[in-house]
Amino acid sequence: MSALMSSSPHAPASPPMPLPLAPASRYVPPSITGDYSELTEKQKKLLAIASDLGRNRFAARAEQIDRDAVFPFENYADLREAGLLKICVPEQYGGWGADFATYVMTAAEIGRHCGATALTLNMHVSSTMWTGFIADDLDMTPEQRANHEQHRAMHYKRVVEEGKIYSQPFSEGGAAAAGKAPFGTLARRVEGGYIVNGKKIFASLAGAADYYGILCTLDKPGATQRDSLYLAIDKNLPGVTVTGDWDPLGMRGTVSRNLIFKDVFVPDMERLIPEGLYAQAATRWPHMFATLSPTYMGICQAAYDFTVQYLRGEVPNMPPVKRRMYPTKQIAVAEMKVKLEQTRAIFLQNARAARVDPSKEIRLGLYAAHYTIMENANDICRLAVRTCGGQSMLKTLPLERMYRDSRCGSLMLPWTAELCIDRLGRECLYEAGERDEADAL
Ligand SMILES: Cc1cc2nc3c(=O)[nH]c(=O)nc-3n(C[C@H](O)[C@H](O)[C@H](O)COP(=O)(O)OP(=O)(O)OC[C@H]3O[C@@H](n4cnc5c(N)ncnc54)[C@H](O)[C@@H]3O)c2cc1C
Repeated sequence: MSALMSSSPHAPASPPMPLPLAPASRYVPPSITGDYSELTEKQKKLLAIASDLGRNRFAARAEQIDRDAVFPFENYADLREAGLLKICVPEQYGGWGADFATYVMTAAEIGRHCGATALTLNMHVSSTMWTGFIADDLDMTPEQRANHEQHRAMHYKRVVEEGKIYSQPFSEGGAAAAGKAPFGTLARRVEGGYIVNGKKIFASLAGAADYYGILCTLDKPGATQRDSLYLAIDKNLPGVTVTGDWDPLGMRGTVSRNLIFKDVFVPDMERLIPEGLYAQAATRWPHMFATLSPTYMGICQAAYDFTVQYLRGEVPNMPPVKRRMYPTKQIAVAEMKVKLEQTRAIFLQNARAARVDPSKEIRLGLYAAHYTIMENANDICRLAVRTCGGQSMLKTLPLERMYRDSRCGSLMLPWTAELCIDRLGRECLYEAGERDEADAL
């Protein structure tokens, strides 16, 4: 504590001690986890790998990927080499065996440097989470369990030994992606597998993933959401096509084009979760629907880091002009920091709370966390652009990309900002199964 801070108004006046001169320094962006010291060794290791790749490779490539709306293949070669494609593959299958918290921290660190890389990596990693620690938590018959072990061994071998990439095209443009209706893509049971017909929209990694991990409905009379099937479809199978163009506002490197499946034969072994069990997984592990938000946690931090560097005159390739001495800038940065710390706190709390069958309070906290991260990302970017001023809109600087990318988060199903509020409001006011008297009439 400095002499100035320790002086009490009742103490005799003494000459103030001269403050030591700060050594010449630059802003050092902190860990995405802040000054949080309770990280496991695995978390520290994975965060260091992600930070190294992000700073030294992904950040420099992000502008071109965004400008051309192309998939970040080079980044994926680096992710593969660094072992991050297998981050959530269980250790017994040769992966890192990262749990939910470890994964989302690592994903947020990547999102700081390239949003599109983090968002698409999430689609890939999710397929290993559904089949990994989530499947481990599900109720299965011994036969289903044995069957699942065989299936996942094959899928993990592809990821671990061959560096294959999986995507997660669930959306169809109807009510299914929001969880309100069965998927329109149908899988008809045939000898040795299924025949799949349907269309997926906004399929990130379209044309880039080796396997599309789709959700579809088992084709049978009276099928409901309980009949959802989770299948991996080899991108080279006859009947699989990528359609539509891709020239969106933001997250341009995700290349989320349409996928058409026309009479595609999918062998049984491509089932990622035993028949009929996806609905159980989705209900009992709701945190899986919030795995999009770590990318946006990364963007929150990145927009703040940029603003501090800009106001300190430390942005690479920019004149070293300082703007930090203006009180309005200081107030703006303080406001951004408040939002950033609120976002980080709820992000970390939610990451650590993730588990099978979460309590009602954890579930409500999850909606609040996802909503906060998604909305604050865009708000922190908005403040950053306003604070840094005109030059921040130039495409040679990363802030305008972050601003556009951040806008694309809270509109992603199944938990758009609106749907989070919808769920939160309803579940705050109604207990499970409760109805209003008027509804019962
Ligand atoms: C960059 C990017 C990448 C994506 N990648 C993938 C991917 O890899 N895989 C994938 O499956 N999807 C992906 N999506 C798709 C995404 O999840 C949505 O399905 C897609 O954006 C279509 O949304 P929509 O607004 O047209 O949907 P609509 O269903 O038309 O919804 C429109 C709006 O209405 C609201 N709404 C919808 N249903 C309800 C309801 N029942 N009650 C109240 N409000 C409702 C929602 O808040 C939404 O904002 C991606 C989207 C983006 C932007």
